[in-house]
Amino acid sequence: MSQTTSASPALDVACPDLSTRRIAYFSMEIALDPAIPTYSGGLGMLAGDTLRSAADTAAPMVAVSLVHRRGYFEQHLDAVGQQTETDVVWSPETTLPSAKKTVSIVMQGRKISICAWRFDVVGVAGHIIPVFLLDTDLEGNDPYDRHLTDHLYGGDTYYRLCQEAILGLGGIALLEALGMTPEVHHMNEGHAALLGIGLLEQRLNGASLETATEEDRAAVAQLCVFTTHTPVPAGHDQFGTDQMFSVLGGERGNTIQRFGCLHNGMLNMTYLALRFSRYVNGVAMMHGKVSQEMFPDYKVHSITNGVHAATWISKPLQDVLDVEIPEWRHDNQYLRSIYGVSLTKIANCHVKNKQRLLDEVFRRTGQQLNPNVLTLGFARRVATYKRASLLFQDPKRLAKIAKKIGGLQILFAGKAHPADGAGKGLIREVFEAAATLEPMGVTILYLENYDWKLGEMLTQGVDVWVNTPRRPYEASGTSGMKALLNGVPSLSVLDGWWVEGCAENVTGWAIERADTEEGESCSLYDKLENMIAPLYQKPSAWARMQQHCIGVNGIFFNTHRMLAQYFNNAYFPQVSDEEAIPMAVDMMATAAKSSSEKTSKIIKPIASMPV
Ligand SMILES: *Cc1c(COP(=O)(O)O)cnc(C)c1O
Repeated sequence: MSQTTSASPALDVACPDLSTRRIAYFSMEIALDPAIPTYSGGLGMLAGDTLRSAADTAAPMVAVSLVHRRGYFEQHLDAVGQQTETDVVWSPETTLPSAKKTVSIVMQGRKISICAWRFDVVGVAGHIIPVFLLDTDLEGNDPYDRHLTDHLYGGDTYYRLCQEAILGLGGIALLEALGMTPEVHHMNEGHAALLGIGLLEQRLNGASLETATEEDRAAVAQLCVFTTHTPVPAGHDQFGTDQMFSVLGGERGNTIQRFGCLHNGMLNMTYLALRFSRYVNGVAMMHGKVSQEMFPDYKVHSITNGVHAATWISKPLQDVLDVEIPEWRHDNQYLRSIYGVSLTKIANCHVKNKQRLLDEVFRRTGQQLNPNVLTLGFARRVATYKRASLLFQDPKRLAKIAKKIGGLQILFAGKAHPADGAGKGLIREVFEAAATLEPMGVTILYLENYDWKLGEMLTQGVDVWVNTPRRPYEASGTSGMKALLNGVPSLSVLDGWWVEGCAENVTGWAIERADTEEGESCSLYDKLENMIAPLYQKPSAWARMQQHCIGVNGIFFNTHRMLAQYFNNAYFPQVSDEEAIPMAVDMMATAAKSSSEKTSKIIKPIASMPV
């Protein structure tokens, strides 16, 4: 592992002016670049897509995360679907400029130095969102501490709490060292909640935390916004008070206790975040409601997730849009003008995307899939509530449908957390089902190492995106949004974003609610046999559906819209405030102006809005 803390001179790019940055976005994981392993799945993708939209719309933001020198992991699957993992080692010093500041915090009773690397997210008109990746691999640090920023979601709970202390406390220290005092600190999930304690220490300016008053806590809360991401209890980090005291020390531990941030006698990062925020939200309408029931003492709002359109729309479709609707890049609402784009052009993009996917499948597996056969995609983090097995409840029925409709191909992908034995078992179950169904005319392939690039190809290239979570555990889900932006409809349980996105037979299909898994899988089979397959046989009707996916849903399920909602509801909510809202609007106008100067195409009128 490298000892150096300074980037090579070639990487010494000047940092944009930070004095005007009003929002600091904190996330344990951020998907910044396909080649940089600083994310594990949906949470990191959302963080990355948020920052990409912030850059496109010239938002006054910076972000903070950890460097994760050994990444999440690369997944390997053997012939029966047994998962093994290897580290993904990367070297920030040969890739990124240094933030040129080293800060220190006291934790575990000793001082730990933290440096940072800067990743610039560059928007469509050149605006930059600097992302600071905290790194403890410094000479002089205790050997244990040097590895604290190595593994995303690795190690034990003690390691995890140390990482969260570095993110929250170290992140605040770094912003201060960089001369920043943001008005808004956005905690993307509870992992960042210790930033509240960091801000409290800053406010006390050297005085003991024991002197902090309720007024101090409330003042810090005014600076913070919190987004919760899961209704699954295991998704909410908690730590024993012994660990809390040993990592954070007596003063911080006592303060956390005194301000009522323990839950069931544990340090619960969600409750800490709730106590230190003035605005709290869930990530889809339904998730907001479920979270409100979980946390009745706090007001929980909803802001539905999105994805960054320019990141997830396929190259062929981007080329079409750039000619026909160039404004889509800075303002995704223009995607409504997809109704002025011919169905043939839309359908042709999908043909190309599907072929690209099938070529990749062949390259990886040696299996030649048929481009004319209905192809379903199912890819996500492997967790029990996601119920991959719903598709295989009745293999005979599935085989019968496949025979009737001229074949069926299903592509799976997804990683199980290395410590999740049950999740790994689910992958093996898919392999078993594949072996059973292959001779019955259903081709099922499980593709290794689901990541950004594979996610891109799958969501762009399959015909239908399938999602079968157990309600109400899918907080939002975003992969179906990547699909719809490419004109790929979903077949999904009415959970998460799909509650808002499903217009039956227009943007996709709902798996009807039933009391049993058999009942729900039966609905899945019914839709496949009676709705999806017949429509798939009619190319122009299918293309019309692809158009609706983009024109009806694409204009909403994107991070440009989502970020605007954060601005107007969470970051600067005072509707009567003279400067807050106009500023957000101004910034978008500025971004729009500078990017439309480059393109002078007149957009086509919306031809029709049929459903
Ligand atoms: C989009 C994405 C996810 C999140 O998808 P969900 O629909 O929330 O399951 C996870 N992993 C990768 C690699 C992704 O691209």
